[in-house]
Amino acid sequence: MSRIVYVNGRYVPYGEAQIHVEDRGFQFADSVYEVCEVRAGRIIDEPRHLARLERSLNELRIDRPMSDACLRIVLSEVLRRNRVREGLVYLQVTRGIARREFVFPDPPVAPTLVVIARHVPASKGDAAAQQGIGVVTTPENRWQRVDIKTTALLPNVLAKMQAKENDAREAWFIDRDGYVTEGGSSNAWIVTQNGVLVTRPAESGILRGVTRTTLFDLARREGLTIEERPFTIDEAKSAMEAFISSATTLATPVIRIDGAPVGDGKPGPVVASLRKGFHLIAEWRAI
Ligand code: PLP
Repeated sequence: MSRIVYVNGRYVPYGEAQIHVEDRGFQFADSVYEVCEVRAGRIIDEPRHLARLERSLNELRIDRPMSDACLRIVLSEVLRRNRVREGLVYLQVTRGIARREFVFPDPPVAPTLVVIARHVPASKGDAAAQQGIGVVTTPENRWQRVDIKTTALLPNVLAKMQAKENDAREAWFIDRDGYVTEGGSSNAWIVTQNGVLVTRPAESGILRGVTRTTLFDLARREGLTIEERPFTIDEAKSAMEAFISSATTLATPVIRIDGAPVGDGKPGPVVASLRKGFHLIAEWRAI
């Protein structure tokens, strides 16, 4: 069965899908996106992803391509047509097609909407979580509006490439004051020697991860203490555990930072229990 993607009102074979050369997503990264986990034929935490999409669109004054109800139908349909029951669904909205001018098109043009589904076996993430991952650190060099989930991801691409070249899976950005902001495509956490969860406040220098928010719900339910504050790399290296969170990795333990072990250099029990409990508390929607 060939893969099918959704582009501006049509479901088309992957190899035939096209975007206009003057799409502003292509020329200016004038576009936003979301990635949702798909598990057992269900979309995980869809309401939170759609709420964040709405926020990103509003912040950039991009028109909605369609209502949430219609968007949910398109997401389901792309998953159904590709028979994806485990993996992810990606959606991107650009400001649309217009002659290349920096300012917004006037009158406004219709936004572009693309939806892609991909099968990824859950066992892949579980294997990484069993083993734990390494991260490298890199100076924060992104713009200040990283709270908006835009496709302007070149610093993230370069940071993650640096990670790959150093045998690591993620890069943690470090701000001017020496604090970790977040990963190239994930939020960053530590568990202190006292068992307190620490992660940076979403108001400063990070994307408010949907997985992060759901982990807050879970941690509260499990009676864990959370401190929303920045932490340094030294603090992370001497923490009991460290981990990343995102829709595609869930909570995945970090066992090495710039080659130095975190704690005893093995995945710890706190992140294991958060990972295990995640789907009990996340919202599921049948496709
Ligand atoms: N931070 C960044 C920069 C990201 O790109 C992502 C996900 O792609 C996250 C955090 C985690 O967000 P979520 O949990 O919604 O996937």
